[in-house]
Amino acid sequence: MGELVLADVNIDDQKDRNVLIRDGRIAAITATRDELGASAGAEVIEAGHRALIPGIVEPHMHLDKALLDSRMPNLEGTLEGAIKVTGALKAGFTKEDIADRARQVVDMAIAHGTTMIRCHPDTDPIEGLLGVEVMLELREEYRGRIDLQIVAFPQEGILKAPGTLELMDRAMAEGADVVGGCTYNEPTVEECHRHIDAVFDLAEKYDAPVDMHCDFQTDTSDPRYAMVDHIAKVTIERGWQGRVTLGHATSLSSLSGEHRIATWDRIKQAGINIVPLPFTDMHLNAREDDGNVRRGIAPITLMWKTGVSVGLSSNNVRNAFTPFGNADLMDVALFAAQTGHMGSPDEFARLMHTITYQNARVLGISEGYGTAVGDRADLVILDAPAPVSALLDRAVRSYVIKNGRVVATTQRTTELVR
Ligand SMILES: [Zn+2]
Repeated sequence: MGELVLADVNIDDQKDRNVLIRDGRIAAITATRDELGASAGAEVIEAGHRALIPGIVEPHMHLDKALLDSRMPNLEGTLEGAIKVTGALKAGFTKEDIADRARQVVDMAIAHGTTMIRCHPDTDPIEGLLGVEVMLELREEYRGRIDLQIVAFPQEGILKAPGTLELMDRAMAEGADVVGGCTYNEPTVEECHRHIDAVFDLAEKYDAPVDMHCDFQTDTSDPRYAMVDHIAKVTIERGWQGRVTLGHATSLSSLSGEHRIATWDRIKQAGINIVPLPFTDMHLNAREDDGNVRRGIAPITLMWKTGVSVGLSSNNVRNAFTPFGNADLMDVALFAAQTGHMGSPDEFARLMHTITYQNARVLGISEGYGTAVGDRADLVILDAPAPVSALLDRAVRSYVIKNGRVVATTQRTTELVR
């Protein structure tokens, strides 16, 4: 593999650095080009003082059911409506159909600077193992352009949809990486608890991380939507600290006072990552509100303050759960700021840190991730001098580099006519 030089990039506070990439890693970072020691034949990207960040990481995407928006809309607009509409559509899925839509979204994600996706294909008696099998194939097809982690995800519930657990077991045996869960789709608290036990049993069997959907409501008045405390307890009992991630957890936004403090403490003790999915969370939640409509997004700034590990992700792209999105996590980060009372440069910087370093931590890929010498050359050159201005400018990703190779470029030129 040839050498690649990134000339004049800004890396955090260091302006106009030169970066040498060799064998898929950052080999050197210097103030002048002469010091780099690049070979004469090295490919050079003139970055022109643009910002360099590590590759964007998506910890939660449903590639198998993306881009279904034109087939059947979710007229009710609720979570139940979305599950119903998508359940009807996925009965007709073929491998070709899933692969075709998934490829379109993965390509969009790459163009937007994503170098890693954890995808959650439905694994249940309706879709069977089709989604998992397509993701396993795409993981190979895209090797070197983007990494895929695969979650065996029981969207229809485990107890509610008999046969699901066996399919999840087969998915893990065939090469899925993570055991998924979906407590909110079980009808009783008792069944939610048994669902959680089944997920952890499978995780123990395959020594795998856990990533569950839970507490997808605006309040905790129904105990089926207040599972975080119980999951934290089970995580500690099973010795799975640091290996559990929870998506949505939107009812956390309704906690206050002592209950909130106790819940944050339990989440931290269990080392659980919380991943808000703002596009979906705000779109589907609070449909019952007649006035003062709630946001329905887990409280990101509050969790930052209390030291909870927070990720951020896109979830769905254009389907009954989320009828918009471009697989652009910077778009999601900006939306999180707009809907989450964030407005300071520090908060914008923290959002950019969340979609890179923090999401990498959620997926357990922090080692060798970053922009230092020795790190994997999974990198993005933003069309802006710094990450914060890129977020506000909606800057294009000028160059996306995976494993030391350019995998996407985007130019944006505007000429003002006076
Ligand atoms: Zn999801």
